[in-house]
Amino acid sequence: MPLDVDRARRETSGCREVAHLNNAGAALPPDAVTEAVIDHLRLEARIGGYEAAAQAAEATAHTYSAVAELLGCADTEVALVENATRAWDMAFYSLSFSPGDRILTSTAEYASNALALLQVAQRTGARIEVLADDEHGQVDLTDLAERLDSTVKLVAVTHVPTHGGLVNPAEGIGTLTRAAGVPFLLDACQSAGQLPLDVRTLGCDMLSATGRKFLRGPRGTGFLYVAESLADRLQPPFLDLHSASWTGPDTFTVAPGARRFETWEGNVAGKIGLGVAVDHALQWGLPAIAERITTVAATLRERLRELPHVQVHDRGERLCGIVTFSVHDAASADVSAQLRRAGINTSVTTAANSRFDPHAQQDLVRASVHYYNTTDEIDQLCAALPR
Ligand SMILES: *Cc1c(COP(=O)(O)O)cnc(C)c1O
Repeated sequence: MPLDVDRARRETSGCREVAHLNNAGAALPPDAVTEAVIDHLRLEARIGGYEAAAQAAEATAHTYSAVAELLGCADTEVALVENATRAWDMAFYSLSFSPGDRILTSTAEYASNALALLQVAQRTGARIEVLADDEHGQVDLTDLAERLDSTVKLVAVTHVPTHGGLVNPAEGIGTLTRAAGVPFLLDACQSAGQLPLDVRTLGCDMLSATGRKFLRGPRGTGFLYVAESLADRLQPPFLDLHSASWTGPDTFTVAPGARRFETWEGNVAGKIGLGVAVDHALQWGLPAIAERITTVAATLRERLRELPHVQVHDRGERLCGIVTFSVHDAASADVSAQLRRAGINTSVTTAANSRFDPHAQQDLVRASVHYYNTTDEIDQLCAALPR
């Protein structure tokens, strides 16, 4: 069944204010998400933060189940954290590396992940290898297969890059890493809420994502999936009285499952809002969301290609809702600012944050569409571009 776009727009106040094509930055939340967050903040103000958390325990617990349903995993395999970077970090910094160990990553890797990889390589003597792209710009599975051996201690790949419209073949990567017995950490920050995700099908052992992007959740929320079989073998880089128990003056035990990657304190209102956002996505259905986003993005690319002074930069055999382009003789930051003045939200993706990708040579305007965007908004964008 096609997605009811009119209803989606009615349920999103922001659609009445702006043409929001910055969903890869932070999507407009459904009104139900905003209300759930504000309701909880009001409850905290009225009865106290701890008391409000106790009263909302069921709603918070539900967020774990909602995320677990989104990913096809168990509630105990989900950690709720403050953003995708911290989620990814908690998984990555739990692994140990020795000199000569190899870590395979991709040209699509997110800048913050790359920085962590470089820091750990510098500390431990592990080596970072960037996998080759295939002719479409996606991870080359043949190159991965050739490089996988017992010296590879981790494959860390970004599913959908922040700086382009492609979708990496995560399932193919998962098949190879499983066969080789190498842990696979998938950054699903831009695919969560945009594409159907199932960790068993993807074959990843760890997955990180944020709440605010295609999931339409509150800012300052994120989550980490770690497979049960792996979580209990990992030592988180830091512990607190929630992720561990102080069992004697000199002893402690680390909490079972994904809870070991969390901290005690957190944004309860945000966690509740995240659960509402995930429910909202599940209610539309991820296949319907993905289909709608792909269609709207394809229309946008088509319209942009009709403009002689515009160049579309997306590579990839399988494309998604992220559309990158440049306007001849115009700085992308200026183009995005001009669009903003016309009530059209986009963002700029910088070459400096994509240094593993030899194709990322210039800053680009990024227009990222969601299921609530319309052809009318695409026309507005095209009309507002500098001539
Ligand atoms: C945005 C993004 C992140 C970081 O997410 P935060 O929630 O800002 O930490 C990680 N990976 C990719 C691919 C992203 O686009």
